[in-house]
Amino acid sequence: MISVRDGQNHILARIDRLRPPEHVPLVAALGRVLAEDARAPFDVPPTDNSAVDGYAVGSADIPESGRQALTVVGDLPAGAVFTGVLAAGQAIRIMTGAPMPAGADTVYPQEDVERAGEQVLVPPIAKGANVRRRGEDVTAGAVVIAAGTVLRPQELGLLASLGQSQVLVRQRPRVALLSTGDEVAEPGTPRRPGQIYDANRFTLRGLVEQCGGLVLDLGIVPDRHEALRARLLEAGRVADVVITSGGVSVGVYDLVKAVLGEIGGVDFWQVAMQPGRPLAVGRIGQAHFFGLPGNPVASTLTFLLFVRPALYKLAGRQRLFPDCWQARAAEPMRKKTGRREFKRGVLRLADGGWEVRTTGPQGSGILSSMVAGNCLIVLEEERGDVRPGELVTVEPFTGPA
Ligand code: AMP
Ligand code: MG
Repeated sequence: MISVRDGQNHILARIDRLRPPEHVPLVAALGRVLAEDARAPFDVPPTDNSAVDGYAVGSADIPESGRQALTVVGDLPAGAVFTGVLAAGQAIRIMTGAPMPAGADTVYPQEDVERAGEQVLVPPIAKGANVRRRGEDVTAGAVVIAAGTVLRPQELGLLASLGQSQVLVRQRPRVALLSTGDEVAEPGTPRRPGQIYDANRFTLRGLVEQCGGLVLDLGIVPDRHEALRARLLEAGRVADVVITSGGVSVGVYDLVKAVLGEIGGVDFWQVAMQPGRPLAVGRIGQAHFFGLPGNPVASTLTFLLFVRPALYKLAGRQRLFPDCWQARAAEPMRKKTGRREFKRGVLRLADGGWEVRTTGPQGSGILSSMVAGNCLIVLEEERGDVRPGELVTVEPFTGPA
């Protein structure tokens, strides 16, 4: 029996080759992983500029008290540049974002002044007020986004502000998915007595896509040695990662281990966790192989724990594990020491603090427990039963980021 942490380390240690990066248009780069540090080619903003609509003045003209009359010598919309130099006793009307004219270092918001013909009456103000400094967002040469970062909308905006229309990103890992089992039927087709509809391939597809992977759907394979062998060989040729569900327990029809032993290499693990104990990890040719358990909750959970960090690493991501939080248990929870247990939970803010309860029955076939929940409750190996009010670790189910 191995621990969750040892299993994760073992898997990650085997991933050392990534696909080469590719250029994509910025408009198609949402969710992709940056392949090289992005550096600023110039200061952002490129010049000192006004933070408000108002009047730019030289600080020598700011009165200590009362009002000072200044002559308005021009109008500067955003994008216009004043080529002259503002002289003593002069002000210039300026719009948000317009570069500061030479001779000016302070801007009055227009609501703080009184305009009278060609003159403007200005009160006391702090020197330098309402000016955005050159480079205050980003200085030239600085790394603004590190390699390995997932591009969210705000990263796309920042890259665009640096003038980029293309970006170098990691190729998406190609992930072949297949379900095993004579009893597993394709949704949308008739279901014979004794059959169940395939749930896992659809959960797993969503998970792979959320992780930035490209899904190659290889369908359902019956519990026949030759069929499984042929399909897995094909999967190993076309994919970087091959994921199956089912067929890894100890039943007579659980063929994954035997087939993998012939065509690749497989380590069959009993992981000290609940649910999701049996797991097959190995390779087919160049592809990484994950044989996940058949029970829907167990396959989802083992994906999150073992496949997700592997896909993240293959995708060139810097961060491989999600953030965890702590919350107070709102109810007692049964827990056996010596293994890591994962319950599906509902995390909510209650009376000013985070509180978590389970979603109810926690059987590893009860997929609706994942639907009802918004987080995993992670109960560490050494922990025993949890009493209400104790702090527990929670890992929110997160979206694509
Ligand atoms: P197995 O490990 O193949 O014995 O599967 C364990 C349990 O998970 C059995 O009850 C299977 O019917 C069920 N199962 C296997 N594959 C799937 C699937 N793709 N979708 C839903 N349930 C499945
Ligand atoms: Mg099966």
